[in-house]
Amino acid sequence: MRETQAQMRTCDYDVIVVGGGISGLLSALALGKHGKRVLLLEKGRHFGGNCNSYRVDGFQVDTGPHAITNLQKGPLRVLMDKYFDYIPNFVDYGRYYVRTSGGIKPIPSNLREFATFDPLPRMDRLMLSQAMTKALTLATFGTDMSKESIYSWLPRNLSEDTYSFVDTISYFLSGKSMKETSVYRVLYGSSFVRDSMMYEAREPTIPTLPATPNQLTEQLTNIPYQLAGQLTNIPYQLAGQLTNITTLSRLVTNRNTHVQAYPAGGLKTLTNSVLYSLPDNVVIRTDTCVKRILVDDEGACGISTDDTSYSAKTIVYSGFAKDLPLMIDDLPADYRCDLKMIDQSKSLCIWLGLSQKLKEFDYMGSEVWYKEKAYWAMPISNYSRTIAPAGKQLVGFMFVVEGSVKSETARAWDTIHNVFPGIDRFIEMTHNQVTIPEKASVTVDGYIPDVRTPVANLYLVGTDAAAESMGITRAAYSVVDLLKCMSEDGCLG
Ligand SMILES: Cc1cc2nc3c(=O)[nH]c(=O)nc-3n(C[C@H](O)[C@H](O)[C@H](O)COP(=O)(O)OP(=O)(O)OC[C@H]3O[C@@H](n4cnc5c(N)ncnc54)[C@H](O)[C@@H]3O)c2cc1C
Repeated sequence: MRETQAQMRTCDYDVIVVGGGISGLLSALALGKHGKRVLLLEKGRHFGGNCNSYRVDGFQVDTGPHAITNLQKGPLRVLMDKYFDYIPNFVDYGRYYVRTSGGIKPIPSNLREFATFDPLPRMDRLMLSQAMTKALTLATFGTDMSKESIYSWLPRNLSEDTYSFVDTISYFLSGKSMKETSVYRVLYGSSFVRDSMMYEAREPTIPTLPATPNQLTEQLTNIPYQLAGQLTNIPYQLAGQLTNITTLSRLVTNRNTHVQAYPAGGLKTLTNSVLYSLPDNVVIRTDTCVKRILVDDEGACGISTDDTSYSAKTIVYSGFAKDLPLMIDDLPADYRCDLKMIDQSKSLCIWLGLSQKLKEFDYMGSEVWYKEKAYWAMPISNYSRTIAPAGKQLVGFMFVVEGSVKSETARAWDTIHNVFPGIDRFIEMTHNQVTIPEKASVTVDGYIPDVRTPVANLYLVGTDAAAESMGITRAAYSVVDLLKCMSEDGCLG
């Protein structure tokens, strides 16, 4: 237990949360429900960060196409069940497809499906299956795969198409090529190792809430939750009984893969659910950029903005960990060096508002194109009638940006035109977003900081403070870790 005098002194707040993306909001919600006086400051005009939606010419775009993973037993589900007064209504995600010149085909989610995945040559499929089985076997029995690149695991004599396919999957799992992406990311970011298994280790550590139930909670637990029926019918019973052996068997038996979903009404519904659930002891502000994290002999003790400062016993930082050295003067030199090693990638999302529903996008889920400039596309208006005007369609195409945004945008449009000749006739709205999807990519050489920092009373949350899973689920993992660490450090009692 790390109890300091700072926790005893009089402060403006118990906790200041820097940043109002999903990780900052989830932290503020959980800490508020534990009775902490919380101040959350967001530099942008809106809360949600990369987890939001907004209207453009009658269409409701998200901050990038999103599939929310592991809602069966992952960290987000646990946080929702424990702290949310309002739980979003989720729609089952559907499937992942690969688009070829002949149309779309489901991407295999287990080895049996992989055996018949004919866009890739048969020999390649066989060799890839062997490589995957070996990697999973080693990972299952404890070998650290975080420093092994995907490329280093591939046989050397695969066809160009197969390398291109694996490279594309790597890019969409980590934002990086197969030479940079770690095997760990594929195993723990794809369907082969369930988040529920990773979550097992954390579950007992979430502290119990004080016994003052929010009156709304009971009424709202009965709101229709579309996934509930499907979730209870999943044939693969993991809860509480996962062993290494059952994990291996999933290579053959897994049909359902992760339970993935999309929030009906758009991504903002998730952010709004957190906002609506915040108790009165949580104060939130937009348009407030935190410039400095203040530190005294006891550790972090407050923050300052351009025109004011606030003191607090604990600071939870959800901005880029990479930026911490700009906010605190005397971080230990080795920690500064580590933070410099954080790897990131940039994405371009092109939203197309279409004047009618096209048969090419008549599916639930998303598609990948792995030739030329690869994309990941998702027709999000198929999930909810409110996302596009009646009879119209909204599709988001996500590309990884490695060169200049201008040249990558031009290449992205070339791909869209090559794959869907004539699509221009139907486009009535386009909207581009350039973003950093995750604050730290899970690469072979990249650094992922811990939730605990070398500065007492300063914690990190967000996608650069956890390595497991992806995106929002990954951010939720960091919040679960935060609660565990603060509880161990005596800051939650
Ligand atoms: C194109 C795209 C596709 C994606 N696809 C998926 C997907 O399919 N599934 C999935 O789960 N995830 C996906 N993600 C990722 C997911 O949206 C993010 O990982 C997640 O929302 C990140 O949350 P966060 O809280 O860690 O960070 P952020 O959303 O970056 O939030 C950080 C917040 O802190 C604020 N801030 C930073 N510094 C300061 C400061 N000094 N003072 C005040 N405020 C500050 C920022 O303004 C921001 O609002 C995708 C993201 C993109 C962009």
